[in-house]
Amino acid sequence: MAIDETELRTRMRKLVASGELLTDAVGRARRYLADADDRPVAPTAGAVAALERFSEPLPASVGDASEILAMLDEVGSPGTVAQTGARFFGLVNGGMIPTAHAARVLADAWDQNAAVGAVSPTNAAIEETCQAWLRDLFGLPEHTVAGFVSGTSLAIVCGLAAARWRLCERAGYDVNARGLADAPSLRIVASRHAHSTVLKAVALLGFGTDNIEWAEVDDQGRLDPATLPELDRHTILILQAGNVNSGSFDPIRQCTDQARRAGAWVHVDGAFGLWAAACKSLAHLTDGHELADSWSVDGHKTLNTPYDCGISLCADPEAMVASLQNSAPYIVASEHRDGMLYTPEMSRRARAIDLWATLRYLGREGVDRMVLSLHQRTNQFAAELADAGFDVVNDVVFNQVMIRVGDQVATDAFAAAVQASGEAWVGGSSWFGEPVIRISVCSWMTASDDVSRAVRAMRQAHEL
Ligand SMILES: *Cc1c(COP(=O)(O)O)cnc(C)c1O
Repeated sequence: MAIDETELRTRMRKLVASGELLTDAVGRARRYLADADDRPVAPTAGAVAALERFSEPLPASVGDASEILAMLDEVGSPGTVAQTGARFFGLVNGGMIPTAHAARVLADAWDQNAAVGAVSPTNAAIEETCQAWLRDLFGLPEHTVAGFVSGTSLAIVCGLAAARWRLCERAGYDVNARGLADAPSLRIVASRHAHSTVLKAVALLGFGTDNIEWAEVDDQGRLDPATLPELDRHTILILQAGNVNSGSFDPIRQCTDQARRAGAWVHVDGAFGLWAAACKSLAHLTDGHELADSWSVDGHKTLNTPYDCGISLCADPEAMVASLQNSAPYIVASEHRDGMLYTPEMSRRARAIDLWATLRYLGREGVDRMVLSLHQRTNQFAAELADAGFDVVNDVVFNQVMIRVGDQVATDAFAAAVQASGEAWVGGSSWFGEPVIRISVCSWMTASDDVSRAVRAMRQAHEL
């Protein structure tokens, strides 16, 4: 049926005014969350097959709003993996703090563009507060600035871009203006176990992954400082707080001391592991991290903010802002914070609000307890798996545990069987070239019964 533009506006105004659509959405969201913990963790084959309904041609005309929402819920919800529940142990995937989710629902109604303070004073104020709280929680230098990006992938790009700008500037070279062709040649030193997104950042920034100088790792995947190449004023050293498989931490203080003496830049990738620094009994793991120049960390992993929430931190504000420079006549630089100065993006959702609500709710003590609890549940996992006769591969230091269940075929079959049980979700990985199953305990929801229940499912999968 044909519709003119006035009619379209009228219809949409009605949707806003009545509020029924939003109430319906909230009701559906509530029902989803209420049984996210009871339904099978992985969607059933039938639910996945039903997603076929999304492959339809673009509608020719304006649709019915409540029908669209119903379709999303009836077809989409069953096709999701229950990542907000207590027994999803794949990737490094946090749950969702209810306060943060609720704050986000409200902030979604604001639809703020976080680019400049002038168009969102609230977001600007909240970003400033989050920046101060993060400095405090992680014990970072007081001039450290934070950029709120989509995830650690981008936060690493930011850290390395700041490093590139600063090291070039020290050599009297403006890399923004003159580009890479004649730039002083910078060196990248990283561990063999650096996360794949470190390689992505190195590639994106034009350093070239073939040029990485590798340091070797020990049997837990920790960088071995004895194998660090000679560092100098042209070097960017990338360290890791939290190995994505074993959860181990590089000896940050030792490496950073060496880097500082040499005048190198140190970036710490602490996507999930930097949160150990905010937990009294685990803080020793990141010892010395505050001596680095830049850090990347996620809210959406260990801290359990909703997706997406990445944070780039830099103790050299000038380098951070200069490397991400952006200006145009129509952009009013305000007395409020302009978020885009600290991120590669200009327009951006106001994701610091979710982070603020999380930290405001948990406080120092809540963060400490939650992080500790993830660690304790991981210890429990390792102990119960060992009791069940599984071959536990790593020393549990944080929230990751790996087991060996056989060759690649056996490992894939095991992961598929656990996923198909609906009881838990675990995935495979490779550890020094050998197939393993990895378990990442990241959700605030996971209680001791959940761990036992997951181990039971894994035991059954092993017997299949
Ligand atoms: C998850 C992870 C990343 C990438 O983070 P995203 O938030 O997925 O972009 C980088 N490094 C480590 C160690 C990680 O665990």
